[in-house]
Amino acid sequence: MTRRPSKIKVLDIDYAIVWVDDTWSSQTGSSGQQSYARQEITVQKAAPQIEANTLLHEILHAVADGMSLTDDSSEEEFVSRLATGMCAVWRDNPKVWAWWQQQVCYSKPAKSKKRT
Ligand SMILES: [Zn+2]
Repeated sequence: MTRRPSKIKVLDIDYAIVWVDDTWSSQTGSSGQQSYARQEITVQKAAPQIEANTLLHEILHAVADGMSLTDDSSEEEFVSRLATGMCAVWRDNPKVWAWWQQQVCYSKPAKSKKRT
């Protein structure tokens, strides 16, 4: 498995990706967070597909910020700007998406310990 990505460019903003453990999520009640002001995306370490889902979720928040989408934006505005933004994110971050695809398509969940 390739290493978790540590940075991603979202609409010309360089974000650090910070991977955290269960302690952070139990303190915040969240599995991920995105801060435009701090240029930081935080993701809880988890099973491969869960990490990929959380990272994508936070990337979409970063795109929404970069595209000035708000809760009042229409569905068409949202879909149109997210599509445009994600095209840029995909083009600018091939290594992140290689990792992401590996997590979603080819990783297996960790084997659970047998109960006695
Ligand atoms: Zn969210």
